[in-house]
Amino acid sequence: MIKINLLSALILLCSFSVTEAQTVSIDRIEPEFWWTGFEETRLQLLVYGENIGSSRLHVDHDDIRVLQVISVENPNYLFVYLDISKNASPGSFPLIFTKGEQTLTAEYTLLEREGSETRHQGFDASDVIYLLMPDRFANGDPENDEIPGMIEGVNMEEPYARKGGDLKGVMDRLEYIKDLGMTAIWFNPIFENDMPYNYSIGAGFYHGYAATDMYRVDRRFGSNEEFVELIRRSQEMGMKVIMDKIHNHVGTHHWFIRDLPMSDWVHDQAVVGNTNYRTDVLMDPYASQADLNSMVQGWFVDEMPDLNQRNPLLADYLIQNTIWWIEYSGIDGIRMDTHPYPYKDYMAEWARRVFREYPDFNIVGEVWMQNAATTAWWQYNFPTQSGYNSYLPSVTDFPLWRSIVAGLNEDAGWDTGLARIYYTLGQDFLYTDPNLNVIFVDNHDLVRFMTSIGEDPAKYRLGLAILLTTRGIPQIYYGTEIMKAGGANDPDKRRIFPGGWPGDAIDAFTEEGRLALGEERNLPIQETFEYLRNIAEWRKEKEVIHFGALTHFIPENNVYVYFRHNEEETVMVIINGADEAGTLSTGRFNEFLEKYTAGYDVISGSKVDIGETVQLHARTAMILELR
Ligand code: CA
Repeated sequence: MIKINLLSALILLCSFSVTEAQTVSIDRIEPEFWWTGFEETRLQLLVYGENIGSSRLHVDHDDIRVLQVISVENPNYLFVYLDISKNASPGSFPLIFTKGEQTLTAEYTLLEREGSETRHQGFDASDVIYLLMPDRFANGDPENDEIPGMIEGVNMEEPYARKGGDLKGVMDRLEYIKDLGMTAIWFNPIFENDMPYNYSIGAGFYHGYAATDMYRVDRRFGSNEEFVELIRRSQEMGMKVIMDKIHNHVGTHHWFIRDLPMSDWVHDQAVVGNTNYRTDVLMDPYASQADLNSMVQGWFVDEMPDLNQRNPLLADYLIQNTIWWIEYSGIDGIRMDTHPYPYKDYMAEWARRVFREYPDFNIVGEVWMQNAATTAWWQYNFPTQSGYNSYLPSVTDFPLWRSIVAGLNEDAGWDTGLARIYYTLGQDFLYTDPNLNVIFVDNHDLVRFMTSIGEDPAKYRLGLAILLTTRGIPQIYYGTEIMKAGGANDPDKRRIFPGGWPGDAIDAFTEEGRLALGEERNLPIQETFEYLRNIAEWRKEKEVIHFGALTHFIPENNVYVYFRHNEEETVMVIINGADEAGTLSTGRFNEFLEKYTAGYDVISGSKVDIGETVQLHARTAMILELR
């Protein structure tokens, strides 16, 4: 940590006035510092300051060469490319800028990369991811609720306003998350979002998807150093960390949007309007160019300028920003927001460059698509007609989410009820590796699962049992463990966690609080919490669930049976979606059952006879370890 603390004062920010009264200054250099020892030896520096453009740069260093110095339309920018030789040692060196008779010097530092087994581990189906929205999870430090000079403070009454949640709040509850059986945490974005708000039109930026500085943690959440500390502690406790990134857009108040380096840094909203959100046009063989342009170049919303990643200077800036955060913070993975919205060639190059430096890392792209075919199209090595390869390992499995929710709500039929899940998984031949899909019953953009299944506790448990035992990487949205409802609009899906705020009447982070909350809502909240925790805890050690094969049987009478199996173990999962208790004849499953005499139900803890029949309770899941 000493290294990191040294960094704050690295750049000598300086300015002078030349005789013609033209001020020249350096206000920022991004990235602020870098490292030696990357595969990619080229380093771009974005130098920003009054009239710094058209300066010359001199570096006197045996292992560092100036490759290119690029002036752009805006005289306040200078883009520099350095070559950092593989022999370069960590340390500081001066960047000497000259303009006319004048000289400006900035110290730049190259650090040694931190090797550690707990950093950059990636994530996979052995994990269960806990997704939380920093502003809405827990307010550990009310002192940072209002920051002088930042636009928005806290307003507990307004749904679209900030609530004051922060990194300290998460830090204080790492034990809680671990105790729930989670092995990874995905944070919605933590970058500075110092944006003006208008609650009456839903323009609030508590969610973090409108960055105003991509190198800085929002001070209302904490500091860069705190984020690094939070990651280090999570990893020490055995939990990985996934960072949310957005390369499609930033906020209108981003510092480089307010003083654009060049006109093609963003797409002109006056020309392209807003996106049509029709992500399917990207693989549609009949798509028009107009629709494609609208999809990729249109703005996501009025407050989020659409970045032009075909600008090579911007592309390098964004790629380096990613590498910087990975190296600086030690994160294990990235969840890329709106993955289909930037230029897809850029996204592939971005992923390729990340994996070149961090082969064990993982990225999940938010690909919110209509069906398995268009979702699978985004996963690496998909045989696209054009030869396009996304280099993206993990995709968000919206088709499975849709099937689980619909399947639990519908009456059983040929292709309705639990058969929906069966048919959706049957399309897995499309995926390069369906076990890398991130699967969920809800997230921060979806109606909460509790609401989508009509607040039915039995259906709720069925959904959780499926999520934690089928193929893929399960993701649990914060509050799911306490049956949080909500979802007519964005803030309703993102309500605060009870107990996360000083003075909350009920603290649902404790058993006592969950019991009280259950009484208040007349719901089995503590039982559901334990249900989720028990399966998640059991799952932690079950390689057969992580990487074992999946074999499923055609659902009959809305009973869906599947097996997870490997050389050592077989687990039988029975999902009874029917409203009645019943008897399941086991003859159909002989290919798995013939070797076994009994099953031990992970959920009830009891031994289950699997002779010729299994007794089923209404709308109940059984997870049987066969012996
Ligand atoms: Ca706070």
